[in-house]
Amino acid sequence: MSLRVELLGEESDERETGAVLGSPWPAGAREQAGRIVVGGVDLGELVERFGTPLYVLDEAEFRSRAAAYARALPQDSVRYAAKAFFSPTLARWVREEGLGVDVCSANELALALDAGFEPERIVLHGVAKTHEELETATREHVGRIVIDGFTEIAHLASLAGRHRPYQPQGVYVRVIPGIAVGHHEAVRTGIEDQQFGLSLADGSALDAVTRILGQAHLRLCGLHCHLGSQISTIEPYLTAVDRLTAFLAELHVRHGIQLPELDLGGGQAIGYRPGDASLRPGEFAAAVTARLRERCAEHGLAVPRLVIEPGRSIVGPAGIALYRVLAVKTSAHGIRFAAVDGGMSDNPRPALYHAAYTIRPVAQHGGAPLRPTRVVGRHCEAGDVLAPEAQLPEDLRAGDVLAVPASGAYQLSMSSAYNLVGRPPLVAVRDGLARLIQRRETLADLTSREGAWG
Ligand SMILES: *Cc1c(COP(=O)(O)O)cnc(C)c1O
Repeated sequence: MSLRVELLGEESDERETGAVLGSPWPAGAREQAGRIVVGGVDLGELVERFGTPLYVLDEAEFRSRAAAYARALPQDSVRYAAKAFFSPTLARWVREEGLGVDVCSANELALALDAGFEPERIVLHGVAKTHEELETATREHVGRIVIDGFTEIAHLASLAGRHRPYQPQGVYVRVIPGIAVGHHEAVRTGIEDQQFGLSLADGSALDAVTRILGQAHLRLCGLHCHLGSQISTIEPYLTAVDRLTAFLAELHVRHGIQLPELDLGGGQAIGYRPGDASLRPGEFAAAVTARLRERCAEHGLAVPRLVIEPGRSIVGPAGIALYRVLAVKTSAHGIRFAAVDGGMSDNPRPALYHAAYTIRPVAQHGGAPLRPTRVVGRHCEAGDVLAPEAQLPEDLRAGDVLAVPASGAYQLSMSSAYNLVGRPPLVAVRDGLARLIQRRETLADLTSREGAWG
């Protein structure tokens, strides 16, 4: 795609490449003459070509984030959390960058296998796995299944022994470390009295381990925990290491075992707004590994291999959502609304847990002052608010296009058919080229599942 750029910058490097936008935009995103360029492609031109709403994925940003995790930890220690966003193209990128994958449904598993992941590099999760999912996972010999409850132990044991060639099924036990992190109750998964995992405190985790050790066809490879989402400091992970290694020591004493792996899940934060704190893969891995070594030395344990499952922190910053403003109006009490052509059907995060974003026009029309603006979606819900107080130009009008960076995770993967709007297309950009990797959902797609009746 051709890239027309007006050069207004005074600095010579700026003249060539534009000014770097910085977090929460992808590392390579530039502003050139008021326009945003990502992967060498002008977002405004993408909108002309593909329409709105539109999702854009910066391939270089995705790959460099995946590669940074792969470099930070030993081989086979990073498993991309597919639930953040997964598609055949994305699965290929993940595999090419040398990561394993964490799946939580039969379809995510099938997609990973189709993309050529070795089963050994796949881990299956879920608080409620179906018989079909456990059957497929054991038949395919996925590397690890994360046990999340007692009923699963006997169920898995009965399935694991059946398949030929025989292979015991590798499992982890998901434990609740009792650590509260995250900005909203809906994203805290490391505390007591939520549905995930088995409690360390009440002895359930120990009971599960004891039962697994009694099953010949299950091989307990380690412990797992996942603390939550958007965790922007290392401390909660260090606390998790402390608690899990204390439990590993208890297992050593009681059962004489030393488990070879410790999976701390995902949750590493990204920037959604300028100045938001995020975790760097290298620093994160170094700090957690150092703590793990220290605690294992104190307990006299061999150091297990640290495994992590980042999702958001790989794909989130690579994605940008683009919407067209369809209406601008001001309420009786002076709230200015900008209603756009997407909303909770492509991004339910603000409605689910008040996720905050940065929003700006793809083309700035001169120096109009900014004014707080409530950016709302097009859906028939008062809760369909994408940003309660975006700072947008005073002269914003219908027809303008807004860009939302850090839109790569938990948006398209959570998108719905609400109001039959149809899911937006996804375009990958790289080196000045744009490629449609998912087309827009049509009415035919939306009605294709319906059979004839009567
Ligand atoms: C959601 C989830 C992840 C990924 O979380 P991110 O916040 O996207 O990094 C990893 N592991 C488990 C078990 C999860 O539920």
